[in-house]
Amino acid sequence: MNQAVDLLIRAPRAVTGDATESERPLAVGVIDGRIVAVEPLDATTLVGHTTLELDKDVVLLPGLVDSHVHVCEPGHTDWEGFASATRAAAAGGITTLVDMPLDSVPVTVSVDALRAKQRAAQGQAHVDVAFWAGVIPGNTPDLESLAAAGVAGFKCFLADSGSPGFPPVDTRQLTEALHVTARLGLPLLVHAESASASAPASAPASASAGSTATPGYAGYLASRPRGLENLAVAEVIEAARATGGHAHIVHLSSSDALPMIASARCEGVRITAETCPHYLTLTAEEIGDGQTTAKCSPPVREAANRELLWTGLRDDVLDQIVSDHSPCTTPMKAAGDWDRAWGGISSLQLGLPLTWTQARRRGLGLARVAAWMAAAPARLAGLTAKGRIAPGYDADLCVLAPDQSFTVDPARLHHKHPATTPYTGRTLDGVVHTTILRGQVIDPGQPRGELLIREPK
Ligand SMILES: [Zn+2]
Repeated sequence: MNQAVDLLIRAPRAVTGDATESERPLAVGVIDGRIVAVEPLDATTLVGHTTLELDKDVVLLPGLVDSHVHVCEPGHTDWEGFASATRAAAAGGITTLVDMPLDSVPVTVSVDALRAKQRAAQGQAHVDVAFWAGVIPGNTPDLESLAAAGVAGFKCFLADSGSPGFPPVDTRQLTEALHVTARLGLPLLVHAESASASAPASAPASASAGSTATPGYAGYLASRPRGLENLAVAEVIEAARATGGHAHIVHLSSSDALPMIASARCEGVRITAETCPHYLTLTAEEIGDGQTTAKCSPPVREAANRELLWTGLRDDVLDQIVSDHSPCTTPMKAAGDWDRAWGGISSLQLGLPLTWTQARRRGLGLARVAAWMAAAPARLAGLTAKGRIAPGYDADLCVLAPDQSFTVDPARLHHKHPATTPYTGRTLDGVVHTTILRGQVIDPGQPRGELLIREPK
């Protein structure tokens, strides 16, 4: 029997977000912004009011979900804002982002602060937006009300966050928070660099580098060694083991921590982890001493470390790839001054081409990329209608030309301070042709993004 749909997309090449399936031809039927049918391309049962006929040189992907974006509005709207960040997201094939709780004023550590964020985002988002809330010393009593208000989960730091309103937690506070988040059924995201280990390294003249500070990138890298991450990841694993809570390691850089994560998972510890396009693309060997656009923490490490992170993805030890878009003004990148420069990389719009360019060189296909960049982040944030091309899911889609390449030109980037990107002049594979949100192509003149609320358990 025929089924009439609002929109029929006929894709000779599609990936659904399920990593076990390979690229295949599909017909996707959409009613009222939701996917109602996914059929073989040659099926004749779907009749579209509108039909989008894709060519063989493009692949249909689920719209990406970026669960690690610092939007900074309200409070630091001169760094980034919901309008510019979501426009960049849409241009990069992202249809949902989850905003981080620091770098805005107020920081999202109470329901009042969450409401301020939601008011700021309302009416100007081009993609859907969900929110993480923060765990800081002393706000444990707020976590339950934040969960009831619909945050996707929580985030804390074990080392200095760089945001004055967002101090780190110690081991006892981490464990206490995981007890609460376990009861609430939400994940706790952890910035895993050890505060205790970082104290001597941040002393004048960099203790880890001997009596003379090493200049340039080598000095910065030496100030945040793998050990800082390894210690912190071990601490998070033990806290998750003790509490039964779900801990998620954000932006893992040290590949040393992968075996610990893998064995903890085998033992039933609820631990997941993400990495970012910069750790999968850049290498310490190639970062110039003046290239502070590439400063982030934890830092980009050596080429051999990058390869092991790719192995971690291939082996499912790392679950997802997200941007950690951490914007600032151009002067805040303090060209060449590694002490003063803002630690954070702006790459929201480029995550998919950066990842795809590296993935294809390693024989990894778009089915896996879609699983890492759409399905897994949606799962982490409890976005049950996002990240997959399947009946019942929102018709959030991305049309990518995987064999087309382009050279990164800041003039074509939509985030607020495009000159802060470390990728200027780099040639990447994968051009996003179209981004579709709930069945309609995103129109830059018409923000239709919704604020997403996670249903409490
Ligand atoms: Zn971040």
